[in-house]
Amino acid sequence: MSYRESLTRVLEHSLAHIENLESTAVGPTVSAMTLRERLNRPLGDDGTPAEQVLDDLVRDAAGGIMGNAGGRFFAWVMGGALPAALGADWLAAAWDQNTALHISAPAASMVEEIAGSWIKDVLGLPAGASFAFVTGCQAAHLVGLAAARHAVLERVGWDVERQGLFGAPRVRILTSSERHGTVERSVRMLGLGMDQLHDLPVDEHRCLQPDALERALQAGPDAPAIVILQAGELCTGAYDPFETLIPLAHRYRAWVHVDGAFGLWAAASPRYRHLLNGAAAADSWATDAHKWLNTPFDSGIVVVAHPEVHRQAITYSASYLARHGSARDPIDWTPEWSRRARGFAAYAAMRQLGRKGIAEVVERCCENARRLVLGIGGLPGAEVVWTPTINQGLVRFLDEQPGATSANHDRRTDDVIARIQASGEAYFGGATWQGRRVMRVSCCNFQTTELDVERAIEAARRALEVVVTDVPATA
Ligand SMILES: *Cc1c(COP(=O)(O)O)cnc(C)c1O
Repeated sequence: MSYRESLTRVLEHSLAHIENLESTAVGPTVSAMTLRERLNRPLGDDGTPAEQVLDDLVRDAAGGIMGNAGGRFFAWVMGGALPAALGADWLAAAWDQNTALHISAPAASMVEEIAGSWIKDVLGLPAGASFAFVTGCQAAHLVGLAAARHAVLERVGWDVERQGLFGAPRVRILTSSERHGTVERSVRMLGLGMDQLHDLPVDEHRCLQPDALERALQAGPDAPAIVILQAGELCTGAYDPFETLIPLAHRYRAWVHVDGAFGLWAAASPRYRHLLNGAAAADSWATDAHKWLNTPFDSGIVVVAHPEVHRQAITYSASYLARHGSARDPIDWTPEWSRRARGFAAYAAMRQLGRKGIAEVVERCCENARRLVLGIGGLPGAEVVWTPTINQGLVRFLDEQPGATSANHDRRTDDVIARIQASGEAYFGGATWQGRRVMRVSCCNFQTTELDVERAIEAARRALEVVVTDVPATA
């Protein structure tokens, strides 16, 4: 079994995928049943040659690989993988570094130290803040909120790491109704309890209303509180007004955590940076490199303004964990023990793009989102529901039969989304937004060109030409 043989094949298979993205269907073309039948090969007693394992895998997975690495994928919020980032991620696997300690992985740990300071710089966050490279924004929330939990309980004389949460004062969590589902899961996993999570109303721009937050803070002026704000909501790209909300929360001694999974990266662009005015005053921030920075997946980042709190909430020491002394040990900041060297990809992505390149990716994605939403929303039988302020927008498709109801428009919207997906020309996702079905338009991939945008609009136009007449308007 030779590495050269295996890895050469992997290179060829990878290039075959990436170089054909333009000409292949974006969405999957095989069913779950087919994939199961193909992939569920007998696990024999005897092994299989490595090259064959890899060739079989590629063959069996064909049609089941989502085309989000390419430029015509606009569902959820996903980025592509820049060449340097993908290459660095391969190296991380080849080098097989356990990035728990500096001593176990010196270069990988040092790269995290440096990439972390670059990220703080590009995002406009305090240079003295601590950070951790985690799997994604979900894990970044978990770490940021573990630090928050530590700090707000410490202020009322409760040592949460030692005493746990049984019998602890309740921690109120105040956020907006537009918060992401990952916030809720972190609250659950940290034992803070869903009953303590208060979803507050938003204004017409989908931003948390300052007076709603003030009233909620006043309702428990002495209770420990965590305020979770959003930088870039997944349907509308909305940013909470940090300049007003953060000082307000701090007057009540609340910890402020910011969910900026993709939206924090707007700070890289002079054109969009103002959206984050005041955000640097928060106590913790969660973001991703695998969305707008375009690294491969498994790349989230948490930044904490109070390193000592972060460290106390997360660190562990044991005699066999040899410490270097003067270099950063990732295990002090991340919830994992053994872990892959995910910092290489973020480091490589930032070096490939440079500050200007990051800003350019952000601006181009925003421009693409705007073109897509206005282009598709302007087609006959379509309407714009949310014009992007950054890289997220919404459209809806209308059932043009006389007397069509909202339910008919919902069905038409899902039907058109399915037709665009089936065309293989572009891939969008649906959502229910303010009680109505919509098609989400999300642009995070550096690969998307003007031609890709035109192809997607054309795919929508063709999908809209199909009029379904067998559904009665009143159904
Ligand atoms: C994607 C996203 C998350 C979750 O990030 P993961 O990296 O998938 O864990 C959280 N918040 C927002 C606003 C997001 O867009």
